[in-house]
Amino acid sequence: METFRSLAQMKEWSRAQITRGETIGFVPTMGYLHEGHLGLMRRARSENSRVIASIFVNPTQFGRNEDFGSYPRDPESDSLKCRQAEVDVLFMPETQDVYNHEFQTYVDVERVSKPLCGKSRPGHFRGVATVVLKLFNMVYPSSAYFGAKDYQQLQVIRSMVKDLNLDVRIVSCPTLREDDGLAMSSRNSYLAPAERAQAVCLFQALQISGELFRNGEKEPMKYIEAMSGRIIREPDADPDYISLVHPETLEDLNVVDESCLAVLAVRIGKTRLIDNMLFEGRA
Ligand code: AMP
Repeated sequence: METFRSLAQMKEWSRAQITRGETIGFVPTMGYLHEGHLGLMRRARSENSRVIASIFVNPTQFGRNEDFGSYPRDPESDSLKCRQAEVDVLFMPETQDVYNHEFQTYVDVERVSKPLCGKSRPGHFRGVATVVLKLFNMVYPSSAYFGAKDYQQLQVIRSMVKDLNLDVRIVSCPTLREDDGLAMSSRNSYLAPAERAQAVCLFQALQISGELFRNGEKEPMKYIEAMSGRIIREPDADPDYISLVHPETLEDLNVVDESCLAVLAVRIGKTRLIDNMLFEGRA
């Protein structure tokens, strides 16, 4: 495995691969890698002749009072994991190279960035879309792999790719979970043991929604009440949002027909966790 920090080196390597007819699978991450990330890398490995993973903690997607400074980092262990996942290139650009002093251009994916996490994290998806486009322009991927755990992010990227006519196939990969159902996340490392035990409430709330869906429930409020009921049983849980939305537009549903996305963000102590489940296939 090669490790590049330089943008010029990254571009040169990718251009050479494309000239040779190789396909490039790309997995952008912020590091502190877990099985969820590695699942994306394995999928990329199975579908491409070359795989690039990036680690970049992107400052423009963090709000002023968010955890940019304390975001967990472990480049050595990450590098080992990438090697084991048979990644060809680990790209770890420097912040000052990605965002130089004169930087002033952002990508704003308008509608789908607004609800849910967009409300409580203004500017977050602008930062995400901007850095993903920048990374695409350094890596030249044929396909890029994203986790369904960050469902709104996936929709933002899909819209950007379509609206800006990018030639990148976007691949969605299922959410990997711990044994009790908690979605894997680098931020789970913030949780104290008592908080970790409570964090399973997100998954369990989503499962309750799944039961309602399978039972034919059509009334969105029924889902939201049931999920809230599960969340507020935990003493350290404070919901940011609990919603039932259209899987593509992410707009609130008035009635649940053939498909819906149950989605929530909950603070457990100081740690904000997100999760979602897609329910479909009901007549
Ligand atoms: P992050 O490092 O948190 O920015 O995540 C990098 C990529 O890994 C994103 O596409 C995430 O959606 C994906 N990812 C994070 N956690 C999981 C998970 N538990 N299962 C699947 N994909 C994940």
